[in-house]
Parts: sequence; structure tokens; C-alpha cells
Amino acid sequence: MTHRSVFDGGIIRAEFDKAGIKPHFIHSIWKYVIENPNCEWEKIPSLPSAAYPLLRSKFKSLTSTLHSAVESSDDVTTKLVIKLQNGGFVEAVIMRYDSSLGKYGGKPRPGGPRSTLCISSQVGCKMGCKFCATGTMGFKSNLSSGEIVEQLVHASRLSNIRNVVFMGMGEPLNNYSAVVEAVRIMTGLPFQLSPKRITVSTVGIVHSINKLHNDLPGLNLAVSLHAPVQDVRCQIMPAARAFPLEKLMDALREYQKNSQQKIFIEYIMLDGVNDEEKHAHQLGKLLETFQVVVNLIPFNPIGSSSQFKTSNEDKVTTFQKILRGTYNIRTTVRKQMGQDISGACGQLVVNLPGKRSAQNSSLVTDIEDLC
Ligand code: SF4
Repeated sequence: MTHRSVFDGGIIRAEFDKAGIKPHFIHSIWKYVIENPNCEWEKIPSLPSAAYPLLRSKFKSLTSTLHSAVESSDDVTTKLVIKLQNGGFVEAVIMRYDSSLGKYGGKPRPGGPRSTLCISSQVGCKMGCKFCATGTMGFKSNLSSGEIVEQLVHASRLSNIRNVVFMGMGEPLNNYSAVVEAVRIMTGLPFQLSPKRITVSTVGIVHSINKLHNDLPGLNLAVSLHAPVQDVRCQIMPAARAFPLEKLMDALREYQKNSQQKIFIEYIMLDGVNDEEKHAHQLGKLLETFQVVVNLIPFNPIGSSSQFKTSNEDKVTTFQKILRGTYNIRTTVRKQMGQDISGACGQLVVNLPGKRSAQNSSLVTDIEDLC
């Protein structure tokens, strides 16, 4: 029998309940696993005696293994390749921000050093966005909540993670229940991340956005909009056909009304496709009644097979000026990090270190790493 991850919260709670073991012991088990990479169940102190055989027969402390951790030459980005129990691979990226390094315009940031972890929710993705390397892999499988949380466990052993963004491989809202459970685990003991420090990014799965605020209040929502009108959206994001822009904006309006939180809008700049001044005005009009932050993302070329080109700097600046100046919309331009390790935006597709071919080394890797 395949053992489940001890971080599959619903399953371990149900098993403990069946065996009459109090659920609060689960938090001590998780804490022990995080602090003891070579955890053996017998060594966990002070559990009820029925817990030990149950853990041995049904659970593994971690079902995944850290296959590699590759540092970028930018000194702040580390890409983790994680091997799953079923033989599949997913990637996660740690981004360290340290104001003392002066790497962000030299201005000190409040709060000192902190790390953000960009995690995956699926192996591959069925959304098929044309500019995204993960989309080129197709969909392989959903991750369990335990497999999602295990990415945080692996990363926590390397860095003090303060923020989590679901912007790695996969569409999080297409694996809704596992993502909801994983976020609940991350915000509870022993991780205790603030929901305000967790961001879920979606292409706009309307029916899931409608539920999200009730299930996970306080969470940040990021929407990969990438175009201000439906036909351009469909051209670059095939999934947009199932979720028309009008319905998506209605869902976002409702979400904002209920949550009273700003929404992050991700917009990849593709030369000649969505980066003209008219697109900036269309986007401004679409968003002017919302509380949003727009993040313009310079496109990472996918290599020779890519049909898209990066917008030049002047176009990005003009686009930003229109959104800010004419529509008073807070607009930032994403800084590129970790390109040399395929950990930058649009670059999360599993490239195993030492196994890259000349062909796939130039492939992108994930647009959803918009962290
Ligand atoms: S951009 Fe996101 S949703 Fe689109 S294919 Fe890539 S991983 Fe999937």
C-alpha cells in the first residue's frame, strides 16, 4: 500500500479520529517532522501509544524528496526540484529579499530579510497558455494537499519562509480542495503563516473565485489577466474561452465586495499582441472601478519555438504611465530574478539539473512564477 503524506491533513485527521486519538497531536507530529529531516516515528516523544503503529502503517513523514536545489547567480533565487512518490517532479522557487544587499533600488525595505516561496499545485497544467512553459507540458496530475505542504517543508529547511505564492506549476483553482486544505495547514500550527502572506494566482476559474473568500478569508488573490479584451485573451490563453472576461470581472467585483481586499492583476507584456497604447486604455477602463495593483511582467522568451517576443522597455514604460497617469491605477513592473536557473517568470517546467538537452535548456519555464 502507498503511504500518504503525514501533511495530508484531512486523511490524518480522519485516521486519528477513527483510532480515538486527539487531533492536537497532529501539530506536534508536523513540528517534529519539520525540525527533524530524518524523522522516525518511534522517536517522536509523548504521542498516545496507538499513534505509533498507525503512523507506521499508513503515513510517511515526507512522501517527496528534494532532488536538487540550484542557486541562481543573482544570489537571491534558489530553484528546488522535488521528486514525488509517483516519480513525477515539481518545482518550487525560493526568493530571498534582503534590504541590506541593496538589490532593490538600494532602498531599505521595512521588515528586513524575508523569503518568498513560489510553489506548484499540479504536475503540468491543462490551461495551455501559449506563452507558458508549464502549459507546454500538458496536464499530468494534481498534487495532494500533503504534497503541496511538503514543498514548504523542504524550503523551510533552507530558508525562513515568510510568504507563499501559488504561482508555480499548475492552476491552483483547478485543484481547489487540495489547495484550500494546504493553505489551512500553512496558516495553522506549526507553520502559522498569515493568510495575508499567501497569494493564490489564477487564470480566472470563475466558479472557484466565487467560493474562495468564504473558504479562505484574508488570502491574497492574483489574476493572470494578460489581455483587456476577450478575443486577445482567447488568442493567448485558450482557457479564457470557458471563462469569458465579462463573467470573470463580475466574479472579481463580487470577490472584492465581500473581501474588501485589493486584487493583484498580472499582465505579461507580449510585443505587438497586448502591449499597445490602446490596450493600456482598454485595461485602464476595465479596472478603474476596482482596487487593484497591476503587475506588468516582461515576457521571458521561450526560445526558438516561441511565437512571442518581449515588449521593449519604452512600450512597458508607456503602458505603465497610461495606467498610472490616466486611470490612477497602481502599476508595477516585475523585476526578473533567477533567469539562469529557469526560475524566472514563465520558466517553471521541470528541467532536471544535468539532464538538460541543448533544445530544452532554452525552453521557458513558468509565467506563473510572478512572485
Ligand atoms: S500560465 Fe499558469 S495557468 Fe497558464 S499554462 Fe502556465 S501554469 Fe497553467
